Amino acid sequence: MNLILMGPPGAGKGTQAERLIEYYNIPHISTGDMFRAAIKAQTPLGMKAKEYMDAGALVPDEVTIGIVADRLAQDDCKNGFLLDGFPRTAAQADALAKILSDLNMSLDGVLNIEVPDDILLERLTGRRVCKKCGATFHLVFNPPKEQNVCDKCGGELFQRSDDTLETAKNRLKVYNQQTEPLIAYYSKQGLLKRIRGDQEIEQVFQSILDVLE
Ligand SMILES: [Zn+2]
Repeated sequence: MNLILMGPPGAGKGTQAERLIEYYNIPHISTGDMFRAAIKAQTPLGMKAKEYMDAGALVPDEVTIGIVADRLAQDDCKNGFLLDGFPRTAAQADALAKILSDLNMSLDGVLNIEVPDDILLERLTGRRVCKKCGATFHLVFNPPKEQNVCDKCGGELFQRSDDTLETAKNRLKVYNQQTEPLIAYYSKQGLLKRIRGDQEIEQVFQSILDVLE
């Protein structure tokens, strides 16, 4: 199964990725992991990527695309792969199509986990952290026994500044702006599989298997 996994922050993409790689026995290829591996192995492209990252600059497309091409050519991708975090733009999607055709491979589907914004915001803003011991809770998924009090040490809970409503709204806005062209791109090719992410984890996973099989 050759797959791309997409979804906004808070959609539960990580959990579904774990299930999918186990079910299909395919590697999880995330851009961050790929960069770290290429840098560690000191490949020419890895060294190039490191230069940009050390300078605090964005790694240019040609370098990213080269690293993806190297990764997809490895033996463990023969059985399939789950791409996560790439492509991000229609230009990168074009480059990916070329890489795959050079390798005699093609995409089986682009999974887009969709969750209504109000539910995403509830998920993204529900985290609470203990001031004393750093334990984390979630108002919906892992609520403390007593409101605003840490179960472990009795310390006071607070909301980190990157978990506030405003930050969360902004993250979603940026995500939607970035991915709209990509969703249109794969939709036009008939590869886009829309998955309802506002269900139980198990049901989301079952929906994915249903659209793929
Ligand atoms: Zn605590």
